[in-house]
This record gives sequence, C-alpha cells and structure tokens, in this order.
Amino acid sequence: MAALVIAVALPGCLNGVFSGGVGPRDYLSSSTYRKLVVEIDYATGHKPADELLNFLKGRLQGVVDKPDGVEFQVGESLTDAGRTWSDGDLQSYAADHASLKTEGTTVVMHVLFVAGHSAKDDGDSKVLGITFGAGPIAIFSEQVDGLCNSALIPGTCSTTPFYHSVVLHEMGHALGLVAHGIPMVQPHEDSGHSGHSSNSKSVMYWAVDSSSAFLQLLGNNPPSDFDGDDRADMHAAGGK
Ligand SMILES: [Zn+2]
Repeated sequence: MAALVIAVALPGCLNGVFSGGVGPRDYLSSSTYRKLVVEIDYATGHKPADELLNFLKGRLQGVVDKPDGVEFQVGESLTDAGRTWSDGDLQSYAADHASLKTEGTTVVMHVLFVAGHSAKDDGDSKVLGITFGAGPIAIFSEQVDGLCNSALIPGTCSTTPFYHSVVLHEMGHALGLVAHGIPMVQPHEDSGHSGHSSNSKSVMYWAVDSSSAFLQLLGNNPPSDFDGDDRADMHAAGGK
C-alpha cells in the first residue's frame, strides 16, 4: 500500500501531517459522527489520573457537538521501556496499539502517555507532547512530570495544572487549531509559531509546546482552556 507522506517541518509539538481518514471536523461536528470516544493507552507507571480524564472530558464536551456523548476508554498499559522516540516510531507504535476504530457513528481520538522522550528534544527544551494530524497524540509523561522538578521547590509541586495544559493543548491541535485543519474566524495565530495562538491565556498559546518556553513564560499557572477565538473557530467548523 502506498503511503502518502507530506513533509512539513514544524517546530515543537505540532506535526502537520493529516494522513487522510479522520479530520478535525469529524471530532467537532455531529454530521457524520454523533459520538466521540477517546482511547487512552499509557506506559506502565504513567496512567493518567481520573481527575485529568474528567477535566478533559468536560472541556471536550464544551466544544464538540456530539449528541451521543463523549466517552473516555482507558485501554492498554504499555510495557515498553522508555526510549528516544522519532515521529515515525510514535506513529507506528500508536497504530500497533490502537484498539478502537472509527466506524458507524463513532469517531475515535487516540492518546498515548509514553515513557521516554522525543528525538526532537533540544538541550533544555523538551517536547511535552506531539500530535500527528488529527491524531494520534503522544504525551511525554516524564517530561511533563519534570516541569515540577525544574521550576519549583521539590515536593511542593503538583503536576495537575501541567497535564491539564499540555494534554488539552494537544487535543486542540487534533481539533484543527490554530489555522491547522480548521480556518480562523478572526486572526489569532502567532506570527512566529505556526499552528499556535498569540494569546497567553489560551491553552493553544505557543509556549505550551516545550519545557523551556513553558517554564519561562507560564510558570506554574499555565492556561487550561480555549479562548474566545479558539471557540469561534471550532463553532464555525461544526462544533458547539
Ligand atoms: Zn502545540
């Protein structure tokens, strides 16, 4: 089978390869799919907290038009040891571990919490998460956990706000933000950071991409929601 490979070099966490099949509008609108299921797989020791999944579900329910609901299914515990992940490794690993399929009136978004780190890490700048087209999404849990150690007094830091920000940000990429999959109603893409918002109060703000910018610009109070511009874009593309 021939694979269509579109080489788009983008910095940070957004890999603009839409590989056909499911796209942002399938997640946002009810016209083809009336239900959204998020499949979660995780490396041993990196199971996402129920609190995180409930938070994400609430956020998604606020922006996607799914009359039959939004459901999270926690699947496999992945026993693979941490490694240095190339983008290709991540995509084939995700494909190997995808248990649910988009079919009928249900669309599936696939999120993996992996051990190890991205081959794109650059010195102190660690990739926190990456989204390939409309998915899969990979979260580098050890790097998100590491935000605590780097910035704050050890033992007093909660990783909760970091996970809220990073995972919702990656889901925003899968939903086509910013101007990468769905059009903008009003311009709000950061001129220096393709696919990201210029508003530091939006979870799509570019600094959520990697650990150094995150710590420098957002500290321990990162954005955890979409802003009005993000919402307008998603609404215009069939979302709530
Ligand atoms: Zn991003």
